Amino acid sequence: MAAANEAKTILDRLGVPAAAWGEGLPTRSPIDGSLGAPVRETGDIESVIARSATAFAAWKRLPAPRRGELVRLFGEELRAAKNDLAALVTLEAGKVTSEGLGEVQEMIDICDFAVGLSRQLYGLTLASERPGHHMRETWQPLGPVLVISAFNFPVAVWAWNACLALVCGDPVIWKPSEKTPMTALATQAIFERALTRFGDAPDGLSQVVIGGREAGETLAADARIPLVSATGSTRMGREVAQTVAARLGRSLLELGGNNAMIVAPSADLDLAVRAVAFSAVGTAGQRCTTLRRLFVHQSVAGQFAERLTKAYDSLPVGDPREPGVLVGPLIDEAAYDAFRASVDQGAKEGVLIVGGERLDRPGVYVKPALIGMGTAGQTDLVKHETFAPILYMFAYENFDEAIEMQNAVPQGLSSCVFTDSVREAEQFLSAWGSDCGIANVNIGPSGAEIGGAFGGEKDTGGGRESGSDAWKAYMRRQTQTVNFSRDLPLAQGVKFDV
Ligand code: NAD
Repeated sequence: MAAANEAKTILDRLGVPAAAWGEGLPTRSPIDGSLGAPVRETGDIESVIARSATAFAAWKRLPAPRRGELVRLFGEELRAAKNDLAALVTLEAGKVTSEGLGEVQEMIDICDFAVGLSRQLYGLTLASERPGHHMRETWQPLGPVLVISAFNFPVAVWAWNACLALVCGDPVIWKPSEKTPMTALATQAIFERALTRFGDAPDGLSQVVIGGREAGETLAADARIPLVSATGSTRMGREVAQTVAARLGRSLLELGGNNAMIVAPSADLDLAVRAVAFSAVGTAGQRCTTLRRLFVHQSVAGQFAERLTKAYDSLPVGDPREPGVLVGPLIDEAAYDAFRASVDQGAKEGVLIVGGERLDRPGVYVKPALIGMGTAGQTDLVKHETFAPILYMFAYENFDEAIEMQNAVPQGLSSCVFTDSVREAEQFLSAWGSDCGIANVNIGPSGAEIGGAFGGEKDTGGGRESGSDAWKAYMRRQTQTVNFSRDLPLAQGVKFDV
């Protein structure tokens, strides 16, 4: 059966309503390039926003732990539907089976995190200078949250945002990537099972808007949506940021990365080779945290390149559903064009060590490319994020220079160092070390856990999602002062007697 039709069977089983299908966005599977039935585009965006605003009025009145109960039920439903949803991620985004399962596991993990959070939306009590006064800082629900998501994490990124937003008291509107509408519809069907069990959630608490970039633009411009959380390219982020800033809204941006690894002379090379393989070619190089630049100390660069070449030579590329395959397809022909152009240019600027070929089969399958750049500087090609499996390898002489090169790109998402030197490790993590939102020691740049705040600096957008105190972006901070005395003292000793 064509992969796109297989996806339809799963959607039917998950209870996606027949009304979801109709004139509109085409559906596709990158596994074999097959086209499925189109899904209906959302025509009336105005009423989606109006319903969300109405839902907010009711949802914010429920105690946060009760809101957490809905997310707990959603986590249960996700556990029950894990295999189906993961299979859909594989069919629609092309991820290998274990990564599809991993993506749904991430949704389950954020549910657990958010349920705990629903009892920990802590504020502060503050010391007032005025006698008989209490001061405190409280976090209040914010309002409808728009989640714009990218194709490469078609469901987890929504869950990172939605689970926090829901416990914080905010309804959610989701504009998924036009390349992955089926996984969004499936997730919504699973969420609705939790809603039915929950009972008293308002209508319109979570809605999906199926459409392209224009739908995202219309939603982002609407002042009834106080927070826009957008994940995707830096180009998209710049546009969304300007639209939202023009109406003084809040945006949370998770944009492109250009992630690096430094391999020091003392590094455990076995560990480093395995880390490179997963982070440079996993998800066929289509992760925001994919390893794209490698800086290896010149004393070990030769042997490291040899070991990497061997590893790259034996990489199983193919149908992501097949056991043992580690590299699935690129999302579409446009992704291949970008891959081809960058590999060809890379071969001119450096040496194409291994990979770069396209496999002769339906769908877009490529052999990940490793390009040796020697001790050259970083050109525009290297500074640009090509969303495909291309790794540029440099040799460095001293550690300060390696950190400098790592930081000398517009993006600032993820970074790592492999070293057994505590001095190098601590310098990397210091104020004059990595300038990224994520910095790891003896771990590749890819594959974050839910507990930590996720996001990056500079062209990556500055947003933080998921763990730590990322929830504060979804709430309104209020400073409250209560006078329980029979006097009216003014702050700073100001006298104003009438
Ligand atoms: P994309 O920017 O093409 O599209 C992302 C989403 O934005 C889609 O839903 C699209 O319809 C919407 N969109 C595009 N232009 C818009 C506009 N002007 N206004 C409103 N919405 C708009 O990205 P993509 O190709 O789907 O994803 C790949 C990119 O996403 C890469 O750059 C990758 O690094 C990045 N990404 C970042 C993170 C992160 O957490 N930092 C995570 C995943 C992906």
